[in-house]
Amino acid sequence: MSPAAGGPRILVVEDDAETRSALLRELAAGGYEVDEAPDGRTALERWALRRPDVVLLDLGLPDMDGLRVVSAIRREAATPIVILSGRYEEREKVEALDRGADDYVTKPFGVDELRARLRVAIRRGAGPRGDAEGRIASGPLVLDAGRHEVAIGGRPVDLTPREFELLRVLLTHRGRVVTKGRLLRAVWGEAYRGEDSYVYVHVSQLRRKLAAADATGVLDGLIVTEPGVGYRIRDLGDT
Ligand code: CA
Repeated sequence: MSPAAGGPRILVVEDDAETRSALLRELAAGGYEVDEAPDGRTALERWALRRPDVVLLDLGLPDMDGLRVVSAIRREAATPIVILSGRYEEREKVEALDRGADDYVTKPFGVDELRARLRVAIRRGAGPRGDAEGRIASGPLVLDAGRHEVAIGGRPVDLTPREFELLRVLLTHRGRVVTKGRLLRAVWGEAYRGEDSYVYVHVSQLRRKLAAADATGVLDGLIVTEPGVGYRIRDLGDT
């Protein structure tokens, strides 16, 4: 039995042979059970055949748009998808996230960054976090969805319903990027498409309120801005 057997199964979709074999080498060394595809058609075949735990997907493929691969997988399953995006693929990256991809890394990226993104994506694939009562915690911050309450270190924070919902969506995706489009849809609804300023204003208010209530400063920088894309809750780990 190879030492990698039993690790998370990953499908690496990348047409550049050199990049692909480097990724496969790194991931196998990190304990992943690897599978590979050089184009979109093979990717969908391999995915259908093996149902990997996570897909690492290059957007620029020779035979079809990587976005189509995202949509095809999402029609059938919630398999976590992490996008490999080129520096000039900003729009495609956001589109992929809007179509249900979980996260992205921009080339060139570090191995540590890639591994961290994959870990978070796979953990999400294992099911939503939060306990039976619907409490989600990140460090001293606790959001109680059932009671509609947020507290830091046990002290309640007074949020408007929109701010509460924003924080809930971000915490549910903790560690992963959430696009402005997805936040708008989740918190305001389809009718507000394109009103990115709503998100900006409410995230600013949310940050102010959290900072004011956080006596220890441990939550500084909790909500990270991903320029041109959206926001991400810094992963403080399970509590
Ligand atoms: Ca490519």
